[in-house]
Amino acid sequence: MTKKTQTTSINVLGIPFDDNSSFMFGAAQAPKLIREGFQSHASNLCAENGLDLGESSQWEDIGDLEIDDSYAAMKEIHSHVDGLLKQNNHTVVLGGDHSITYPVVRAYADKYPGLSILHLDAHPDLYDSMDGNPQSHACPFARIMEKDLVSRLVQIGIRSVTGHGREQADKFGVEIFELKDGIPQDIKFEGPVYLSLDIDCLDPAFAPGVAHYEPGGMSVRDVLTIIQTFKGQLVGADIVEYNPTRDFNGITSMVCGKLLKEILARMIIDG
Ligand code: MN
Ligand code: MN
Repeated sequence: MTKKTQTTSINVLGIPFDDNSSFMFGAAQAPKLIREGFQSHASNLCAENGLDLGESSQWEDIGDLEIDDSYAAMKEIHSHVDGLLKQNNHTVVLGGDHSITYPVVRAYADKYPGLSILHLDAHPDLYDSMDGNPQSHACPFARIMEKDLVSRLVQIGIRSVTGHGREQADKFGVEIFELKDGIPQDIKFEGPVYLSLDIDCLDPAFAPGVAHYEPGGMSVRDVLTIIQTFKGQLVGADIVEYNPTRDFNGITSMVCGKLLKEILARMIIDG
């Protein structure tokens, strides 16, 4: 198959790391379960655009990045993803808690000046610090914005913002679309886009396998529509905060598998 761009491959990389969770651990068990949902014989590997991922050589599961030293985690994640990008591989990261997004985006921002982030989440994750931990999963977008790594941060699905969160969003110029105001229909970016998908953007009725239940969320179809229709080039993504210890009958595992399928299909099309 002829490739549209110089992208060598899209690498699916698990990062079973949840040491920066603030409320409940368990997200470290997610990569294995996301793969099970993705590969489940209950479904198949055809994305909704017709692309059969089982037949595509444009993506590859490269396994997990095992983190031994919690304190070195952010550095290890950054250098690993940086290495993949230097080989022109794009990455879909399977978390893990949301703290892993900061080092991944740091690597992406180096490669793609002018990068934008499309961030789907119930929470803006803009805390300056949480429980004395500036690397908490509640903080990655504060770290990203204070380092001026991206040109735009667009957040959708948001329905739990503190006063501090609003101040941080104002300070950093974050574009927050609160879910009470609906889902924007015309999401448009210039140039490369990184998608950060916190599973709690979904209503817990659709995805109960999360630590932080925040009712009133998006449907699976809402999120699929965003992934399939936003304007811009999708060059990287993460699926984070799936917590299998909270799941029922593997429903969230299947949801994550479906999202992974559609993200990979979109990235292959975007090149
Ligand atoms: Mn969240
Ligand atoms: Mn989050």
